[in-house]
Amino acid sequence: MPIRDRLQHGPVDGVRVGRFSRSINTTFVLYRWGDTLIDAGPPNQWKDVARFTAEKPPRQIILTHHHEDHAGNAARLAKKYDLTPFAPTEGQDKLSKGYAVPLIQRLIWGAPRPVKTASYPEDIRTDDGTRIVPVFTPGHAKDLHVLHIPEKGWLFSGDLYIARSIRYLRSDEDLPLLMSSIRKALTLDFDFIFCPHRGLVEDGKEMLRQKLANMVALCDQAQFLQREGKPLEEITTRLLGPEDAMSKFSRYNFSKRNLIAGALDVTDLSAT
Ligand SMILES: [Zn+2]
Repeated sequence: MPIRDRLQHGPVDGVRVGRFSRSINTTFVLYRWGDTLIDAGPPNQWKDVARFTAEKPPRQIILTHHHEDHAGNAARLAKKYDLTPFAPTEGQDKLSKGYAVPLIQRLIWGAPRPVKTASYPEDIRTDDGTRIVPVFTPGHAKDLHVLHIPEKGWLFSGDLYIARSIRYLRSDEDLPLLMSSIRKALTLDFDFIFCPHRGLVEDGKEMLRQKLANMVALCDQAQFLQREGKPLEEITTRLLGPEDAMSKFSRYNFSKRNLIAGALDVTDLSAT
């Protein structure tokens, strides 16, 4: 594995894997803290994930949510290391029964295998005794939890952060709920983010605050144009430009118009 694909911050190390290496949205960072693994990585990256985890066999795996890039190898890791991954209660059904993955996501990440999980225990600790506290932050997914490390002021952000400004929304994402979850996360004490797509994020709380501010500004502009009588398509093009290949290829499952439609639904425009 090339050295450039490895990340390190304190006791945490990670590896960036992915089929297409150009964009943060098509690569995934698998983090490990001693024998604790955060998420399981995309199924089509199993070879690299297997090599990485073999260096330090995991005692526990904590899944942030059910999406295939995060939970895709959970079944194989569970079998290999004879463990039951921890997952949000809200996602356990999907994880155990499996679910349909849209074509474009299957192309980027592969298809996940069903996996039996256990709910997060009351007390989760790393091998050096540090407490990991899952915090429910739905919106991106119905089951997303971020993992807060109060003792260190760190946040494993699942898919809550990813970027300071967003230009697309999945059709199953709930923008008002996502924004209220960001507000909830901002009440936690942290300054460093471990993002599974962006990587290590210094000044993480400020970055997340800026993401919320950018979302609020977008909602504000979209709602202004709506009051002027502009239709959804026109508002989308004006604020985010025309839909591109990503939107079209995903059949608008991942699109700019989803984001604007969500922005028109947001009623809480507070930036904190
Ligand atoms: Zn996700």
